[in-house]
Amino acid sequence: MPDVLERAGRDVLETGVGLDEAGVLTVLTLPDDDLPAALQLAHEVRMRWCGPEVEVEGIVSVKTGGCPEDCHFCSQSGLFTSPVRAVWLDIPALVEAARQTAATGATEFCIVAAVRGPDERLMAQMRQGIAAIRAEVDINIAASLGILTQDQVDELAALGVHRYNHNLETARSYFPQVVTTHTWEERFDTLRLVRKAGMEVCCGGIIGLGESVEQRAEFAVQLAALEPDEVPLNFLNPRPGTPFGDRAPMPGADALRTVAAFRLAMPRTVLRFAGGREITLGDLGARRGLLGGINAVIVGNYLTTLGRPADADIDMIGELRMPIKALNHSF
Ligand code: SF4
Repeated sequence: MPDVLERAGRDVLETGVGLDEAGVLTVLTLPDDDLPAALQLAHEVRMRWCGPEVEVEGIVSVKTGGCPEDCHFCSQSGLFTSPVRAVWLDIPALVEAARQTAATGATEFCIVAAVRGPDERLMAQMRQGIAAIRAEVDINIAASLGILTQDQVDELAALGVHRYNHNLETARSYFPQVVTTHTWEERFDTLRLVRKAGMEVCCGGIIGLGESVEQRAEFAVQLAALEPDEVPLNFLNPRPGTPFGDRAPMPGADALRTVAAFRLAMPRTVLRFAGGREITLGDLGARRGLLGGINAVIVGNYLTTLGRPADADIDMIGELRMPIKALNHSF
């Protein structure tokens, strides 16, 4: 077994303290022959520090497309030619989406908007939407609305948003190649405010944006330093019309190395398969991920691309004999 896995077997598994950047980089560059051992160890670490439960989440877009920002992977930017039109969801549709998500057994329902940060119209929509969902559906409500002010953080916390998603997307050193309309630091500031207000921090990114493997390791330890409650792991699904639209999806083996390395960097976090896993890994790869450090999934469709049917994922989790996390009324 490679030294790095022996070391991780001693340190990460026994103490719950993640690998350092050099260790993460070594895992990210392991030869294919060592990948099964890396995934096996990552699975043991997940079972030891997180347990066997899988957290299931559904997401809904309350405002789709027409975003003023220029994240080069994103078809919701209004600055590219991607065929996503600006659309708002009404409150009854939002409640229905929450109801359907809860019916799958999911405990998390994340309301997402394609914006730089919320304006008054979006905050009003959140006020009404969250009240309506809480009156009718038993599910944790999360939100992902971009960069927040202190007042907006306070209001969302008071409304009962228990987890806030804001992805750092990529390594700090690579971020300027991906986004030019705001900075990594602006994103980081929102995460700091979210944590201070008592909401859970959900922060991940997209792998395969053209970052080097060293930058992938850099990103893993930058996330680990934030001690996020959840890390959604996306793999680039190149969208037509975006600046990254002609990039190739990353190879499945590299995606699995990333899963193992990120779990070994963050033994205690909820590590969620998010967008891009279907084209990068397919069905078999998704199983290997769930047996290699992943302990959460998004069911149903993503924001601009189709996922797998919710039932297929729930069935797969059942076949793997992993219990689905139950609601513990955190709000
Ligand atoms: S990732 Fe978010 S902020 Fe960036 S363009 Fe897409 S919707 Fe806008």
